[in-house]
Amino acid sequence: MTKSDCIFCKLANGEIPTRSIYEDEDFNVILDMNPATKGHALILPKQHADNLYDLPDDVAAKILPLAKKLATKLTETLKADGFNLVQNNKECAGQTVNHFHLHLIPRYENDGQRILWNPTTPSAEELDATLNTIKGN
Ligand code: AMP
Ligand code: ZN
Repeated sequence: MTKSDCIFCKLANGEIPTRSIYEDEDFNVILDMNPATKGHALILPKQHADNLYDLPDDVAAKILPLAKKLATKLTETLKADGFNLVQNNKECAGQTVNHFHLHLIPRYENDGQRILWNPTTPSAEELDATLNTIKGN
């Protein structure tokens, strides 16, 4: 299913012209219009899902093999030195377009980008409390 007011549904399904680097029956992979680095691309499922929470398992299962294939191709063709996969869910995590997408970001020595977080230093007790919360203890 696509969503009539979703720009990524339109891009994924060819209703708006875009720079597609790969297409199959489930996905369109397009160049990001404001790339972090040369070759920054987005894997877009053709079927609408708001985010990872919403993504059907059968679609999800196809994404990492596709990411691996395209990361390899982008790295070879663009002579990248490394690679980031980035995937944001919900506004607080930096999601700006509410149609699931996986960022493919080739990295280059001294490319000036910083795709990292600020490490924190919880105590052992805090880490244990987090573990227990996740495990439902
Ligand atoms: P996110 O912040 O994870 O939701 O990422 C959204 C990404 O989509 C950003 O990197 C934008 O540059 C990119 N983007 C938004 N609109 C378009 C568009 N029409 N074509 C290509 N990329 C887009
Ligand atoms: Zn959509």
